[in-house]
Amino acid sequence: MPGPALDATDTDRSLPAKADVVIIGGGIIGVSTALFLAERGVDVVLCEKGVLGGEQSSRNWGWVRVMGRDRREIPLAMESLKIWDGLDARIGGETGFRRSGILYLAQTDKDIANQEAWLAHARANGLDSRSIGSDETLALMPGAVARYKGAMYTKSDARAEPQKAVPAIAAGARRAGARLITGCAVRGVEKSAGRISAVVTEKGRIETSSIVLAGGAWSRLFCKGLGLRLPQLKVRNSVLRTSPVSGGPDGAGADWTYAYRKRLDGGYTIAHSAENQHAIVPDSLVFYRDFQPARKAEGESVQLGLSARSWQELLEISAPALDRPGAFERHRILDPKPDERSVLSALKAAAEAIPVLKTAQPLQIWAGLIDVTPDAIPVISGVDTIPGLTIATGFSGHGFGIGPGAGHLTADLVMGNTPIVDPMPFRFSRFSDGTPIDIAPSV
Ligand SMILES: Cc1cc2nc3c(=O)[nH]c(=O)nc-3n(C[C@H](O)[C@H](O)[C@H](O)COP(=O)(O)OP(=O)(O)OC[C@H]3O[C@@H](n4cnc5c(N)ncnc54)[C@H](O)[C@@H]3O)c2cc1C
Repeated sequence: MPGPALDATDTDRSLPAKADVVIIGGGIIGVSTALFLAERGVDVVLCEKGVLGGEQSSRNWGWVRVMGRDRREIPLAMESLKIWDGLDARIGGETGFRRSGILYLAQTDKDIANQEAWLAHARANGLDSRSIGSDETLALMPGAVARYKGAMYTKSDARAEPQKAVPAIAAGARRAGARLITGCAVRGVEKSAGRISAVVTEKGRIETSSIVLAGGAWSRLFCKGLGLRLPQLKVRNSVLRTSPVSGGPDGAGADWTYAYRKRLDGGYTIAHSAENQHAIVPDSLVFYRDFQPARKAEGESVQLGLSARSWQELLEISAPALDRPGAFERHRILDPKPDERSVLSALKAAAEAIPVLKTAQPLQIWAGLIDVTPDAIPVISGVDTIPGLTIATGFSGHGFGIGPGAGHLTADLVMGNTPIVDPMPFRFSRFSDGTPIDIAPSV
């Protein structure tokens, strides 16, 4: 398998003829939704075109944080952390979750001012995030020599292992009764009297009146087949994993040149915190206006350019047909080429700030495509024009930490239960009902 190696997971072979709910996509959102539905006795089948967790959910940095979140996401991120706390016991597995704290390092007065502005949200939500000075910052980074002006620190924030979490949650969902089918692309849906009546997969049909679209970076293309306009683009971020290092900081932290996260295997996951590439594709033009505010807010942290992806998406502009293989089958696992220069420069910057990392050997480099929405918060929502469809996508670089909470919320919406948090900010209709695009300032 390309990319980081995932823990093994048992899956199911035969495609059932019927299910109460079919989930499309086996990333952290899909498997978490499957867990919550199966625990509540729902007959749920999850179809994954590649392997469980093979795309963003195993390639991310492994930060589980509330700090710095958009104010609309904070309640869901807080609920998610509570779920993570009991998740290993609940599923009988190891996700690597540890409450080891996160540091946002401040290099300039502007960093401090931005962090202070965000801390107002922390106070309003009763979070333990706080501003700390230079000495306390250094004390929280054993092995470091860099002197920062200070940091924003959240002791209760956490980390987990992306290569372990999805397999472990999937195993828990399966034990609770969910059926998980891999190598099974869903091409589209059939409708009857305006309602969903079946999904059409490469392995056959499953009759159902309820589907959850948790397709990550593919959700836009899937929505096209449903006649829905989901404004979603992709940015690439590259990641490096190192050999074990002793004496370095626990937890996770970042300045504008590097981000680190301690791994359970003793090494570090390192990335550049401000180097993300967006390949210009046809959708960049289709959604040009939707993403204008995001482009302004991101400044130089997203670089635009042409790449092989630009041509590929040009050739795959149409929604896949139901009766023959299409893009979902051609691209079993999105495995973009990593930007080695970017991650090696991040490792160098990290080792200058934290010299114990000089002994860290780069063991593997990979990249992932992050799916983003115009306001950088997800869609977790039903769709008025297609009864039976629930969308859970567009996690905009935040979905790993929020995953279990989002799975809970999605299951609530599917079942019509009282939602774990107010789902209004995540409604799909905000992109078409004239609501202005509201982008949180970067922290
Ligand atoms: C480099 C990087 C760093 C990140 N760092 C963090 C971090 O530190 N903390 C954090 O919270 N988040 C982080 N993120 C974001 C986080 O990883 C994502 O938001 C989250 O994993 C999204 O989960 P998902 O289930 O929506 O999508 P994915 O994990 O991408 O899963 C979607 C799945 O759907 C499948 N699929 C799509 N279409 C079909 C179809 N038609 N039929 C069947 N299957 C289909 C795909 O094959 C895929 O496996 C990062 C992301 C990247 C790439």
